[in-house]
Amino acid sequence: MNRLGVAGIAALIASLGFANPTTAADDTPDGKRWWSHVMFLADDRLKGRDTGSEGHRIAADYVARQFAAAGLKPAGIEGFFQPVKFVSRKVLDEGTSLALVRGGKREPLAIGDDAFISARVDPAPELEADMVFVGYGLEIPEAQHDDYAGLDVRGKLVVCLSGAPARIPGPLAAHMQSAGERAAVLKKKGAVGLVMLFNPKHMDLPWERVKLSRFQPAMALTEPGLDDSQGLKLGVAVNPARAEAFFTGSNHTFEEILAAANSEKPLPRFTLPARLEAKAQVERAAVESQNVVAVLPGEDPTLKNEYVVFSAHLDHVGVGKPINGDSIYNGAMDNASGVAAELDVAAWLKENHIKLRRSVLFVAVTGEEKGLLGSRYFATHPTVPPGSIVADLNTDMFLPLFPLRSLTIYGLAESDLGDMAADVARTLGIAPQADPEPRRNIFIRSDQYSFIRRGIPALAFKIGYQPGSPEEKLTRKWLTERYHAPSDDLAQPIDKTAAGAFDLLVARLLEHVANRNDRPRWKDASFFKRFAADAAQSTP
Ligand SMILES: [Zn+2]
Repeated sequence: MNRLGVAGIAALIASLGFANPTTAADDTPDGKRWWSHVMFLADDRLKGRDTGSEGHRIAADYVARQFAAAGLKPAGIEGFFQPVKFVSRKVLDEGTSLALVRGGKREPLAIGDDAFISARVDPAPELEADMVFVGYGLEIPEAQHDDYAGLDVRGKLVVCLSGAPARIPGPLAAHMQSAGERAAVLKKKGAVGLVMLFNPKHMDLPWERVKLSRFQPAMALTEPGLDDSQGLKLGVAVNPARAEAFFTGSNHTFEEILAAANSEKPLPRFTLPARLEAKAQVERAAVESQNVVAVLPGEDPTLKNEYVVFSAHLDHVGVGKPINGDSIYNGAMDNASGVAAELDVAAWLKENHIKLRRSVLFVAVTGEEKGLLGSRYFATHPTVPPGSIVADLNTDMFLPLFPLRSLTIYGLAESDLGDMAADVARTLGIAPQADPEPRRNIFIRSDQYSFIRRGIPALAFKIGYQPGSPEEKLTRKWLTERYHAPSDDLAQPIDKTAAGAFDLLVARLLEHVANRNDRPRWKDASFFKRFAADAAQSTP
């Protein structure tokens, strides 16, 4: 297919006599307004919108004012805002050490180049423990997979390889690899912590960039019960290029383990002939930030009490180690682009006098980069009655780098929301597709997952591409060069027309979900259906 613009596609569809959208193709947002919001939110003055920072507060104010300008009503706790409290943790390089202890000999690991202690788990000041390699470290009865069978990891550190066997369905595998599920399994087994060895094949970032993440504080929600890793004592990330040291003296090598994983062979599981010694110097601080919540009230006397959520995270990672002399991580695509889509969609719905039966809730959340924390808090403490949220549509870094011809829908097969999204995409001449790379775990890597955990059918979207296409190359290049780097800023080539087309698609989908008689449902075969029990119990 050649480079046919969206207007061209719409005209083509009309000429073929397919169902036409209810407004003319000219009503497609042109992406200019979208870009103006990105320009504000990703400006250097906002310093990368770190959770709890002044830049994030300025961004939140801007979003609230734009929501108001689009005719939305405040739906937070304090006007448009929902305050969220965190504790921040930073593991300082000074006073922190890691060493392998083998046969009484201590082999220090270089903090950063070899490994680092993650602040996602609140580290004990000092710890020395035996290590057990447990394959992927997954226990998934639904898939008859148990990496812990026959192993005793009580009081020990679990060492595992990132990823999951390909035979386990992507969304289920992703869920089980989430920090929350991993922590739950480790605690159940009595392990004291986790040492993660990354499979380079599935890494979005090179280690040189992963290791810099330790300079940015991790955060946890202060509310007891909402810090998944509470009770664990250590989390360590290991450079895959240096992971071999962990296996010295065992009958296995990391190379052999990677080869087995990459050819879908079962992984060995065994006790490592070394202990890990860890000392951590941690700096802690109280942080407050805010979600921004606005409602476009529905008009149906009954259905207006139900809410379709459109969510996107407002925070990014702030200021960090300079790369090429730039230390501001602007997060233009991650995820000023998604919040700008919320603002563009809100304005578009108003301009086009779109009538909605259900209410639409626009939620710009904080703390996504810290582990989906703002959305976790919102989904746990919604500012609308419990059980009244019928769906979440989320967008995070939808990457308008090229025209919108195909839409990747994360969670496509899990609920009938997926069918609706696919239908709406087709109506606009856009080909829907399932996640082409389930091993990247995108299904659980953004805020839709917080809603899914509360039983609410949810989807996430990105502009799609075909495997092996030039568009795939562009996306991969973007991830390697700009993802979580200062160069995700305003000086990058962006296809604004594609962004406008994306916003139209989301607006049409919101309209569709808000106006149909039935609320969205999980598919019977979906693993995630089980979480809906909570939601059903609390439905008024
Ligand atoms: Zn991000």
